[in-house]
Amino acid sequence: GIVVENVAKHYGNFRAVDDVSLEIKTGSLVALLGPSGSGKSTLLRIIAGLETLDAGQIWLAGENATHYNVQKRNIGFVFQHYALFKHLTVRDNIAFAMDLRKHPKHQIRQRVEELLKLVQMQQFGDRYPSQLSGGQRQRIALARSLAVQPRILLLDEPFGALDAKVRKDLRVWLRNLHSEVHVTTVFVTHDQEEAMEVADEIVVMNQGRVEQVGTPAEIYDNPATPFVMSFIGPVN
Ligand code: ATP
Ligand code: MG
Repeated sequence: GIVVENVAKHYGNFRAVDDVSLEIKTGSLVALLGPSGSGKSTLLRIIAGLETLDAGQIWLAGENATHYNVQKRNIGFVFQHYALFKHLTVRDNIAFAMDLRKHPKHQIRQRVEELLKLVQMQQFGDRYPSQLSGGQRQRIALARSLAVQPRILLLDEPFGALDAKVRKDLRVWLRNLHSEVHVTTVFVTHDQEEAMEVADEIVVMNQGRVEQVGTPAEIYDNPATPFVMSFIGPVN
């Protein structure tokens, strides 16, 4: 799992992440939910090792990973504008990280086919990103992030740019993927409904702090603070 211990990130006097502690269990599917500017992306980037922290520790699978680089953390991530390579086919996009690590060719080929099947994109391997819809590209980006078998998957607003119908399909699809692969997954969203529908557990953030952690039902039935109440509660 992931343990975040008293983590802080400051920009000048501004506290983007303000003494956050939380524990994400191995194999769980967790939503980081909060309004714009609440520190979700910053926290995710700190966990990924893409951002330095000013205080605190990050533990991954029981090891203190605070000073591990991105590669050593063995984390797959998908950020909203982390584009696919335009000049590479879908297959070559997925194979990219494995090629980089000099995996054997036959092993790469086999793994790419498995991943295409997993994201239900078998017929699209020879296409280029420009020949795919937005939702199809997101699925390929996910397949690519899973290529080197990460123990943790971090998704920053993976469905953010998509229309409502595609978002709904991808929610179901993410749940199914998670139940097949069981990789510890944290996804960022500012959409309450999305968090409720997809996550096993929700971390509600506001102004760089964690307001509440709980299952969707716990948070809905027992909001811990006025902020959670107004952010997540039933619309009156
Ligand atoms: P959104 O939903 O809009 O993506 P977020 O919850 O992901 O928001 P962050 O991107 O983590 O928010 O940013 C948290 C706060 O830190 C914001 O107020 C942002 O302006 C500030 N911030 C982020 N990066 C920097 C930076 N490099 N320099 C100064 N302030 C920053
Ligand atoms: Mg963000």
